[in-house]
Amino acid sequence: MPFPLFLFEGGNPPVLVALTRPGECAIVPPMAVQPILQLGTPSLFELCQALTHDDVSRLDEQVQDLHDTMRAFQAEHGWGRAIAAPQIGVQWRIVAMRVGEDAPHTFYNPVLDQHAPEEVEYWEDCMSFPDLLVRVRMPGACRLTYRDAQWREHRVWLTGDYAALLQHEVDHLDGVLATQQAIDERSLALRGTHAAKDLSWNGEFRILT
Ligand SMILES: [Zn+2]
Repeated sequence: MPFPLFLFEGGNPPVLVALTRPGECAIVPPMAVQPILQLGTPSLFELCQALTHDDVSRLDEQVQDLHDTMRAFQAEHGWGRAIAAPQIGVQWRIVAMRVGEDAPHTFYNPVLDQHAPEEVEYWEDCMSFPDLLVRVRMPGACRLTYRDAQWREHRVWLTGDYAALLQHEVDHLDGVLATQQAIDERSLALRGTHAAKDLSWNGEFRILT
């Protein structure tokens, strides 16, 4: 349940305060929204570096920036459920995800290590080219192995929109964009010229281990 927020203007600078329970409050850290690198930026095509456990604490601020930037994009555009670190210029293998009101996730060193044989096609979008849709084909389900901030390993089975979303994000970590995966020359469309993308959400995020 989100806490009620109010602006305390007696501070210099003013600070956002959350009422965490009656009579108690906490200062909300300022959002650190970073510019999202756009298609054409050379670093989006580079391979990102894997982390060690020691790197996690050094990258706390960048991970918070990643979540803040995603939230700001969601608030402005009404879509965008995940973002990869290189999209804000952080060349590490980190993905942030927030679907609806579910708790946000951070995936460290995510690896897609199993795929279902059936492929599906759909129109993909991306915060790095928000006006463009790209028709792509990819496995309809896959297994993701990743570490959390405490360096515990997890495995999840993904189907539907979760599978599409996280395959897209892991591709970012390999320097691969959806534009490179267009099915054919008719598989690119400007958002406004194409039927509205279906914003309903389907799919499974099933914890295996
Ligand atoms: Zn993207």
